[in-house]
Amino acid sequence: MRKPLIAGNWKMNMTDAETKKFLDNLKSLEISDNVEACIISPFTSLKTLNELLKDTDISTGAQNMYYEDSGAFTGEISPNMLKDLGIDYVIIGHSERRTIFKEDDELLNKKIIAALSHNLKPILCCGENLEQRENKIQEKVVENQIRSDLKGITEKELYSKLVIAYEPIWAIGTGKTASSDDAQSMCKFIRNLLTEMYSEEFAHSVRIQYGGSVKPENVAEIMSKDDIDGALVGGASLDTESFSKLINYEK
Ligand code: PEP
Repeated sequence: MRKPLIAGNWKMNMTDAETKKFLDNLKSLEISDNVEACIISPFTSLKTLNELLKDTDISTGAQNMYYEDSGAFTGEISPNMLKDLGIDYVIIGHSERRTIFKEDDELLNKKIIAALSHNLKPILCCGENLEQRENKIQEKVVENQIRSDLKGITEKELYSKLVIAYEPIWAIGTGKTASSDDAQSMCKFIRNLLTEMYSEEFAHSVRIQYGGSVKPENVAEIMSKDDIDGALVGGASLDTESFSKLINYEK
């Protein structure tokens, strides 16, 4: 059984003081056992996040990392720095990193290898842009991303760690959501691809999230699909009440 993972990606939002306020409000709200909830904050809030959530079941994540352990890489954060803070997950290859910061698959592959070797769980993001969908090459795009980003990594290394987030770029932060059938169809395609690349048992153990304008009003419909095991949520995760509704969605 795959436990759904609902993760809030705060992007470049929330000061440390705002993080404390968010978590303070969250404490008084109910948290369902049916899902694993996770908050993915900017680096500057990770220490606070981890300290204030350590006695809860809510997981924590970072939005990015570099693949080296230390050295002359000004402005970067290493996997062991994240591990030292007690962080569980790290997003690798979010479309904003791929497009704005020009991160390519070769770099992302190195980052995934480094995350796994430090026992961090990578949330690997993949997804097509609007032009690629209009040209009906979205499956090819996603397949190329996943094959390149996981190149040379064994099933044993990925087991119980890898999470994949399918995030069509045209649906991120735009208010446009992929239909739940389109999202299911791509998540199923990804699971079949994992079966080709690895064993069937492994492919069925991997959690595949959908991301792109998920909100309290559409989360239940998206989560009702067989191959969708969670959501990666940007905008709607910034408000405590909305986040609480997402992680307590009604089946
Ligand atoms: C995201 O940040 O990964 C995301 C899906 O954003 P939004 O929910 O705002 O579309």
